[in-house]
Amino acid sequence: MKIPLLDLKAQYASIKTEVATAINEVLESQYFILGPKVAELEEKVAAYSNSRYAVGVSSGSDALLISLMALDIRPVDEVITTPFTFFSTAGVISRLNAIPVFVDIDPVTYNIDPAKIEAAITEKTRAIIPVHLYGQCADMDPILKIARKYDLVVVEDAAQSIGALYKGRSAGTMGDLGIFSFFPSKNLGGVGDGGMVVTNDQSLYEKLKILRVHGSKPKYFHKTVGGNFRLDAIQAAVLLVKLSYLDSWSEKRRQNADFYDKNFKSSGLFEKTDIKTPVPVYKDSDDKNYHIYNQYTLRVPFRDKLRQFLKEKDIGAEIYYPLPLHLQECFTDLGYKQGDLPEAEKASHQVISIPIYPEITTLQQEHIIQKILEFY
Ligand SMILES: *Cc1c(COP(=O)(O)O)cnc(C)c1O
Repeated sequence: MKIPLLDLKAQYASIKTEVATAINEVLESQYFILGPKVAELEEKVAAYSNSRYAVGVSSGSDALLISLMALDIRPVDEVITTPFTFFSTAGVISRLNAIPVFVDIDPVTYNIDPAKIEAAITEKTRAIIPVHLYGQCADMDPILKIARKYDLVVVEDAAQSIGALYKGRSAGTMGDLGIFSFFPSKNLGGVGDGGMVVTNDQSLYEKLKILRVHGSKPKYFHKTVGGNFRLDAIQAAVLLVKLSYLDSWSEKRRQNADFYDKNFKSSGLFEKTDIKTPVPVYKDSDDKNYHIYNQYTLRVPFRDKLRQFLKEKDIGAEIYYPLPLHLQECFTDLGYKQGDLPEAEKASHQVISIPIYPEITTLQQEHIIQKILEFY
């Protein structure tokens, strides 16, 4: 049985005519850049995430970049973030010639460990970028408390977590700015690149809109240097269709995660190995945390061998992420070395994400579980 890590064709089949109608509308209008579809998506994503403003941009990475530009992050400013994330979280810091400062992760959630942030703060620290990895929010209360204490701004990288909740609050809306990615593999994915910045701050919102069009306001007059960070209308049209299904898709992912959790547990596998399923923090409390499972990530022994085994069995799996950012070649100049951030390094050798997409069948999930049991 061949099971991909993510089956976008199954999702597309269920909305094919709606998507075609939406794209056709844009083609008929010949209005491709920003415009009414983008404005409508911004309104709906702002409402969906309980934030006042939203600005559609060219990608999740550009959403991060434009956020740091709007916050006036400058060369030699230090920005604290996690080393266990997609590259662009830290890449955008370097692109502004600011300095990424990496803080180790909590081994249970894989998100930045708030208890380790204060020790990393210096005179030059300006911002914190917590990442809500795999679909679950970082522990925001202590992070926001530290930010207030040291007068730092907070940009939430919610690229993997649109619709996730932290104690009832929406991912992306707790800091000064929050970003989403519409990369096709995210829970809300476009038919190409796209992203969005959300905020409750009107002056930041105005800045973002100007920076998105080369810093131009009025047109052809530039007080600041921005860039082309625009979202296009076809992406917005497709995303508007998909947005109406997002909650049901995320709910399906949660049910699939439940199925894995229960069946891994009852299999007796935990007694034989120290394999660990994801831990949705506060799941059964009144704290209303809501994990959207962009990834279902196991921590396992013999990870690379398991990966090879699953590959031979035609089961999709991926490592997010195999090399923590502080050990990336492009960041050599920052001076980190092996052993500096042990939890992130350990996780990079032990995690593996398995198929969790909404359309996966029970039969397919049972097959995956059975193959993993067979391996161990
Ligand atoms: C996907 C992702 C991004 C970048 O988004 P793009 O739309 O691919 O540019 C940034 N941060 C995290 C954590 C991501 O998962």
